[in-house]
Amino acid sequence: AKQLGRSNIQCYSPDMRVNAGKRLTLEGKLRHAAENNELVLHYQPKADLKTGRIVGVEALVRWQNPELGMVSPGVFIPIAEESGLIVPIGDWILRTACTQALAWQQAGFSIPVAVNLSAKQFQSPGIAARVRDTLNATGLDPHYLELELTESMSMGNPEKSIEIMQSFKALGITLTIDDFGTGYSNLSYLQRFPLDKLKLDQSFVRDMADSPEALAISQAVLGVAHSLRLKVVAEGVETAEQLQLLMDNHCDEMQGYYFSRPLPAEQCTQFLQQKQQL
Ligand code: C2E
Ligand code: CA
Ligand code: CA
Ligand code: CA
Repeated sequence: AKQLGRSNIQCYSPDMRVNAGKRLTLEGKLRHAAENNELVLHYQPKADLKTGRIVGVEALVRWQNPELGMVSPGVFIPIAEESGLIVPIGDWILRTACTQALAWQQAGFSIPVAVNLSAKQFQSPGIAARVRDTLNATGLDPHYLELELTESMSMGNPEKSIEIMQSFKALGITLTIDDFGTGYSNLSYLQRFPLDKLKLDQSFVRDMADSPEALAISQAVLGVAHSLRLKVVAEGVETAEQLQLLMDNHCDEMQGYYFSRPLPAEQCTQFLQQKQQL
């Protein structure tokens, strides 16, 4: 319970709190960010824990504003959510990520790209149709798209959420629950939702080597996931010790600074090339 409480407090950490005036300024500038080409996607590679091979990348948005400098997604995504700007921005993110994944495929790197969907985006009318249209428009095979959802976004209306997830699954998209273990939802939805993977939240990974409780929670998540035939991705892996613990406990995939930071597309291509040669 201690661990769960801690990771929830993180969401409201002071550095993420922005006062009302600054918020309006940010929102005003964010409104034009996409059209001014201020948004860019970075890609963080994920590796198979057993083979060390790259099994995919996660797209993470960056906002570089001429006046504000680099604004963290931890700050502007919540503002985009509350202002509704997440819908057009989310569409841009999806289209850009799909286009990049296709370009990598054409260059011989057949890896899926994972895109984060925020709650507002997931709940926006016609989301499944817009995702399908984006796949059609970019020409990306849906099997190369993975969507990362969070536990909380589906809790309000589980029936509707299941319906949306099923239409994603019908297209062939991989579905992952992000930040697993930080929500307060019960576990029964794991059996009802058509999921493929869980992402073990980085707060557990960070503490697992020092905290028996964090390790116990991680082991419990891995146990539940595997018994439901879900794969587990550990995020925020920073040390060899964490990696070893994850291997010992049969985690499937890992992502984190230990393997690679999120990289601009071009650098990510270089990373893919290097790993392919090894
Ligand atoms: P997230 O989806 O849980 O993403 C993981 C965050 O952990 C990323 O922060 C990533 O850069 C960071 N990270 C990766 N490896 C490590 C590590 O080894 N150690 C540590 N300490 N951190 C690591 P980032 O890029 O600042 O994104 C923060 C959050 O903003 C994301 O959390 C996600 O909720 C949101 N976000 C980012 N990009 C997007 C996007 O394209 N769409 C939406 N809807 N949300 C996004
Ligand atoms: Ca994510
Ligand atoms: Ca996460
Ligand atoms: Ca997170």
